[in-house]
Amino acid sequence: DAGAAMEKIRAAGLLRTRGLIGGKWVDAYDGKTIEVQNPATGEVLANVACMGNRETADAITSANTTFYTWSKLTASERSKALRKWHDLLMSHKEELALLMTLEQGKPMKEALGEVNYGASFIEFFAEEAKRVYGDIIPPTLADRRLLVLKQPIGVVGAITPWNFPLAMITRKVGPALACGCTVVVKPSEFTPLTALAAADLALQAGIPAGALNVVMGNAPEIGDELMQSTQVRKITFTGSTAVGKKLMAGSANTVKKVSLELGGNAPCIVFDDADIDVAVKGSLAAKFRNSGQTCVCANRILVQEGIYEKFASAFVKAVQSLQVGNGLEESTSQGPLINEAAVQKVHILHLQ
Ligand code: ADP
Repeated sequence: DAGAAMEKIRAAGLLRTRGLIGGKWVDAYDGKTIEVQNPATGEVLANVACMGNRETADAITSANTTFYTWSKLTASERSKALRKWHDLLMSHKEELALLMTLEQGKPMKEALGEVNYGASFIEFFAEEAKRVYGDIIPPTLADRRLLVLKQPIGVVGAITPWNFPLAMITRKVGPALACGCTVVVKPSEFTPLTALAAADLALQAGIPAGALNVVMGNAPEIGDELMQSTQVRKITFTGSTAVGKKLMAGSANTVKKVSLELGGNAPCIVFDDADIDVAVKGSLAAKFRNSGQTCVCANRILVQEGIYEKFASAFVKAVQSLQVGNGLEESTSQGPLINEAAVQKVHILHLQ
């Protein structure tokens, strides 16, 4: 049950509820906290620090200071620390997956899959970091030599969503740290516990204090502080198009580089010559993975006339076999939606 799962996470030292600034776990400066709920039951799992602009400013300062030492290491030295972080993520697979199921709702099987997937980014970029080669370009004038030298850009602000609480962080932080950048991460307020546990393991792996900072709480305040800062040189964001547009506009004043992964629009198309089993399996995964809460989840399924009846009856049968429930239970294939607002949104869409 949830209590035993929380105990396991706590015993592993991975139940962190404060932000991480300069290698220290800190409360919000005004002492405010926010509740993290288990979407399967509505129970409060923990109260985490509810931070804002002041804590973010300090996290940026710490990342900026650390940039001067972290970026001076060799790629191989950084790679070793990242490799160790990968290994620690993998050796704490169960605790991380439990944490994800508890705060996000996805079934354990999917959560375990996300730990593999999330850790794989750290491994991949630990290896790639050693191969960030420059270029020699044929010159346009005989007495010139043109070369491209790749350098870390500086402090990176990373804002991540709740649907993949670990992987969206490692996918951003892995390449940034590997190249010598330092990071301020703002995880979603719905799923900060996984982010904090992962950050704890980064510290244990020897990623230096200040290279990876985590703040969460008042999203617009934290976002604004990241935007306004002249020390933050890049913003990386995965989330809604509306927020992505705000971040892009906010980055213009200081001319930050911006990488955005925004909302998807994903029809699933089944043609007459499709293999029914493959089509049903594929459509089911596309529509129902993470209870429909991924950016590539199918928003409509278009089926050609000739195969329609056959596909529809096989698809309905497959959907009826899905088991809705608490992700901690082995039989569950569909966990809860993230919160009540998400349930309302589905109801409204359904009625339209
Ligand atoms: P989703 O539809 O995936 O929930 P959001 O864009 O609302 O997408 O959330 C993704 C991330 O963006 C979350 O971490 C959220 O807290 C953050 N966020 C929301 N509003 C802002 C904002 N004004 N500035 C910065 N970050 C924000």
